[in-house]
Formats: sequence, structure tokens, C-alpha cells
Amino acid sequence: MKEQVYWNPKTELMTRESLEDLQLRKLRKLINWSYEKSPLWRRKLDNVDFQPGDIKSLEDLKKIPFLTRKELSQSQLNKPLFGDIMSISKESALRYHQTSGTSGSGPLRILDGWKDWEWGSEMWCYGMYAFGVRDNDICLVASGYGNFIGFWLAHYACERIGALTIPTGGMSSEDRINKIMEMEVTVLVSTPTYAIRLAQVAKEMGVNLAKDSKIKFLLHAGEPGASIPGTKKMLEEVWGAKVGDFPGMSETGGSTCYECAEQSGGLHILEDHYIQEVIDPKTTENLSCGQRGELVLTSFGRGAMPLIRYRTGDLVERVESTFCSCGRTFDLYKGGILGRADDMKLVKGVNIFPSAVEDIIREFKEIDEFQIVIYTEKNIDQIKVKIEPISEFRSNRYQELQKAIAEKLYDAHRLSFRVEIVEPNTLPRFELKSKRLQDLREKI
Ligand SMILES: [Zn+2]
Repeated sequence: MKEQVYWNPKTELMTRESLEDLQLRKLRKLINWSYEKSPLWRRKLDNVDFQPGDIKSLEDLKKIPFLTRKELSQSQLNKPLFGDIMSISKESALRYHQTSGTSGSGPLRILDGWKDWEWGSEMWCYGMYAFGVRDNDICLVASGYGNFIGFWLAHYACERIGALTIPTGGMSSEDRINKIMEMEVTVLVSTPTYAIRLAQVAKEMGVNLAKDSKIKFLLHAGEPGASIPGTKKMLEEVWGAKVGDFPGMSETGGSTCYECAEQSGGLHILEDHYIQEVIDPKTTENLSCGQRGELVLTSFGRGAMPLIRYRTGDLVERVESTFCSCGRTFDLYKGGILGRADDMKLVKGVNIFPSAVEDIIREFKEIDEFQIVIYTEKNIDQIKVKIEPISEFRSNRYQELQKAIAEKLYDAHRLSFRVEIVEPNTLPRFELKSKRLQDLREKI
């Protein structure tokens, strides 16, 4: 018998027509629920004279105003602690989380009910199963298990699939490497940054992960690294494993899209649990397949905090399901999440995406860690990349490396980058999300 490769073949193989019928049914339920239970949504819908019964087709969703992160933060400021979007009370909730607050507006407090929680781990299962994780796998979750939702749901998804799951909150990197070897772990769940860090520590401990460990899959979220070709390749080589990307966000709970075993260069959109639109971030007009724009999410799984037309700030390019040959009918995001609109930096009139710089830097095997610094010198913006080479790299080859990196960065951006080499082990290392970009202009 052919091995089952779909977590939920009923929906993953659905025709477009049936998928849209399903979305419409779920959308009606969501709008009804939100209007009845969430004061924020009742107000927003009343403001545009929209009644739940007005949802006649999927097109009608476009009549509903967007929800923004700023609005959520403002609502929590006006009505502490949770604002007025929640449809359940604090007492009836099951889980508390907060976002990492990287977008400058402070952390966002989030409550989940049991159904939301179950749903969130189910979203991870689609991707893990599609990538090849099975009940005989041994998964190590490299997470601190704090109040950032991060890998909590991935942990429960591993258990849901039936795999042996090892929580490692509070463990040092050395302890985690030892555990990977001792327990013959086959799947590592972490941020891409932390997988790089673990590989550095393993090397210092004299452990050759690619040769000696049983790891076959690295499952990443929290950062775009696993979809950045240079970083993906580098991780594949040092770990001797397949590297998959499963992005999600605290506001949505679980994953929103996933990489399948075919690794087509795109991530399948969880279309049975979300409606994902792509809009022009300036005009807010809906874009069609093949056009790059901002991802807007309507989630059918977050009952406690209804998310309808939520502007994520993530940039994506949607392509049709035939882009991948796995048979799933879910469309994809080509190249994954391409970056965040607010990550983009303007230097001397050139748009710089940190992920594009990272892609180039990771091509150089001589580099262990790096940092991007944007600053002003004599009133002119400058961009510099600090490079930390691996300890075996000899200083008489520094100049040659500097030149090669500067040339590649210039070719890609038509902008001169300064390249500075720093001593090994001097740049910061990260356990969760990395902060490799410093924009010193913002402090002025
Ligand atoms: Zn596929």
C-alpha cells in the first residue's frame, strides 16, 4: 500500500469549488460569532453598516474593514488588559500568551480557549506530516516554553502525530546536543537561528551532527531563515538533514502555511482553515496570483480572539497549487514569507531586506555569525556588515573574504556595503529570534 502523505486528505485534495464552499460556510459562522461575542467586531461592522447576514459570497468579505496590529494594541491600552476584541472572559480562557513585541508597540496579550489550542496544534500537524514526520520519530523541541506561543503548539503537534516528544525548556545548548545524541533524536524543532547556534556548539564539543546524529528533519518557524536559500542550504549541510519552513504568528496561533516533502520552493497555504488575501500595502487593493503584496489573514480557528482580515505586514507572492507536484490543491507562497514590510530599510534610495543580505552571507562557509549595521556618517547613510569568521579561518585571507562579500552584496543591491571582520565569538548569539540588524539612525 502506498504510504499516506497527507494529514487531512479530505481537505488537502479538495477541488477549488468545494474548498470555496467550505470557506464560505466557515466564514458565515465566524462573522456571526464575532458580531455576537466580540465588542470590537460589533463596533467595526456596525460602523460600515455590515450585518452578519450580508455574507452571501466570499467576495463579500472584502466589504469588512481590515484589522491592524495597531488597533489591537490601542484596544488593549484603552481597555486593559485584553482590549475588547476577546469573545471569552479571562476566567473562561485556558492559555495566556503574549507576542514578542518586536514591532515597536509593546507585547500583545492573547487568550486562548481549549478549542483554539487544539486547533493551533492541528495546524502544525498538516506541515509536520506533509514534511515526513511520523509516529516513530523522536522530536526535540528547542524552546524555552515561556509565554511566547512559539513552539508550544509544535510540541503538541508532535504528540498528536504520535512521535516521542522531548521538551527542553531551561536546558543549555550543550545539554540539548547531548540529548540529541543520547536519545537518537530524528526531528529538531527550533528557530533557524538557534539551529545554527546548536551546530556551532556541537562543533565546539567535537560532535559532527551530519555524520553522527540521527537528525533527518529540521522544522523551523519564528523567522524566515528556512525559506532563505543560502541559510537553508547551510543548515542542510551542517546537520545533514532536510530543512522545512512552517511560519505562523502569535496572533493567528498555529501555522498559516507549510512546506511539503516535495520542497517545491513554496509553502502551501492552509486554505481550509484560513482565507488568505494578498493586498497592495499602499492602496489596499486585492492582488492576484503572481503579484507580491501584504498577506491579510482571516482565521477560522481563533474563536477567543476573532481575526478577520488581519493585516500581517508579511510580504508574499501567491502562486497556484500546480506550482507543486504533491497533489495538494492548496495554493502556495513562492519563496515563503519574503520579509516583513516594516523590516525593509531604505539606504541611499535602495530598498534593503535583511533576509536578502542574509541569503548572500550564508553562501560563505567561512562565516560563523554576522550583523548588519546601518548608520549615518557626515549626514550620509551607510551600511556595514560585520562578519565573524569560523575560528579555523586564517587572518591572512581576511581581505580576500571581505572583497568577495562586498562584491556579491554590491551585485545584488547596486549599493556599496562596508565589510568589517571581527574576532571569533564576539557577535551576539540568539536562542530564539535573532536581532542581526542594528539601525543606528533610529536613535537620533
Ligand atoms: Zn506540495
